[in-house]
Amino acid sequence: MSASSGPEQTPVAGATPAEPDSVGLHDLPATVVYSGATADQSTAPDQPDEGTLAAGALLKHFRIVRLLGRGGMGDVYEAHDESLERTVAIKIIRAAGDISPADHARLIHEARSQARLNHPHVVQIYYVGLEPECPFLAMEIVRGTTLAERISQRVLTPREIVRISIQITEALRRAAEMGIVHADIKPGNILLDEAGIAKLSDFGLAQRNTAAGQRYVGLTGTPRYMAPELLTGGRNSIASDMYALGITLYELTLGRYPYSQTVTTMQEQLDLHRSADVEFPHHWPDDVPRGWKEVLARLLAKQPEQRYADYSQLHGDIRKLQPTARLPAAIVPRAEAWLIDMVLVLVVLGVSVLSEWALRFVHLGLSETVASGLAHFAANVIQAGVFFLLILAYGRFKTTPGKRLFQLSIADVHGLPCTPMRLMLRLPLALFPISLGIVLDFFDRLTVSLSLWLVGGGLVVSALWLVLNLSSMVIDKQRLALHDRLLGTRAVVDHAR
Ligand code: ATP
Ligand code: MG
Repeated sequence: MSASSGPEQTPVAGATPAEPDSVGLHDLPATVVYSGATADQSTAPDQPDEGTLAAGALLKHFRIVRLLGRGGMGDVYEAHDESLERTVAIKIIRAAGDISPADHARLIHEARSQARLNHPHVVQIYYVGLEPECPFLAMEIVRGTTLAERISQRVLTPREIVRISIQITEALRRAAEMGIVHADIKPGNILLDEAGIAKLSDFGLAQRNTAAGQRYVGLTGTPRYMAPELLTGGRNSIASDMYALGITLYELTLGRYPYSQTVTTMQEQLDLHRSADVEFPHHWPDDVPRGWKEVLARLLAKQPEQRYADYSQLHGDIRKLQPTARLPAAIVPRAEAWLIDMVLVLVVLGVSVLSEWALRFVHLGLSETVASGLAHFAANVIQAGVFFLLILAYGRFKTTPGKRLFQLSIADVHGLPCTPMRLMLRLPLALFPISLGIVLDFFDRLTVSLSLWLVGGGLVVSALWLVLNLSSMVIDKQRLALHDRLLGTRAVVDHAR
């Protein structure tokens, strides 16, 4: 059995209730292995036609329509709420005989923890049926798939992965604010609706984030997603949830488990978390931003204190990787912004040319020709220096007056804001006629005929550059200019992220 399959899919909870928490769990036995954790049950959702409730059966005012899926613990049905006249999902415990008090308590606990979280990215709980013989919960129906199914299909783009991660992080941030630790984060517990909106579910193992609120003592969670510190007596916490989220997001991004070692026992599976190194591919996928690897590595740190301190920090880092609108900027506003920037830079450089006049008056006892040559050279150096300062300012402020005016920005191939270095390389290329002029200006005093050649040559090359750039933008779907092709950048419509 490889690390990516097997019984470790099923959640386990070594449960000894500590202080009774507000959910009123007082009768949990010393040790519980939920849902008889077997490999077969982890594949149960593949046989959705074997539900224990028949279509038409009535649970309170919910009429069963059909089986939607099967989890480690129970079955989920589509049902019709005859009171509110709407479709809901009903979760019941699947049991051969009597339902154990622990399973009963867990379902009610799931309903109550989840119901407290009124959040767009948490599956909403509508009702909990407390009947001892058939406890159930009614919840929002999510028409779509689980993230686990999406991972196996490998259909999500990095842009979608970032969006889903932000949504789940927001749900977890809300849970953390309410002192709730999920304790069973995994792709099977995240649902995606038809519009691709992610919803966190399955708060059956959720715990209060306080020592007094600890619900289970011992191992809780799904072994495949368990943080290393849980194996050495640590309790479920935001940090252990982050680790589980790290494995989930790793699988989502790379389509495989972060550890490739083969495991045959539960203990070996748990040891992987403790001692195996997370394996990142040698060649990082071109379409995934590099920063994403750092986010995953931090979530998957072996030491809990090396992970993110809270979800706001994580959220902030993921947001930085959220692509800007990839709407390519149209040629006309780009040209106008470019012209404004060209004129402004020329005006600033013009001021530095004045320095040549000033310097001519400083003769220092030199002949007229030498003094004027030196003044020209010094003015050129000042001009190049001023241009360099403008480039540095662009790297610092990441925009130009022209771009601001026309709401344009420069993104990289992932649609992310460019690094300052790339922006600084781009500016002299985008203002190529000016850069060329500054360089040629150093030589134009050598001879009169050379000067003429340089001016003429400079104008021809600049005109050629302009024509080629315009053609490139017209032909290309992304409206890429030559320097954008060279640097992997693109001008996009500025967009609030
Ligand atoms: P485990 O108990 O191992 O976490 P699981 O998460 O796969 O198992 P459940 O949460 O019980 O199991 O759900 C079983 C299946 O039912 C899910 O995989 C999903 O396909 C479907 N399902 C669960 N909740 C909903 C819902 N609110 N709307 C639609 N389908 C759902
Ligand atoms: Mg589940």
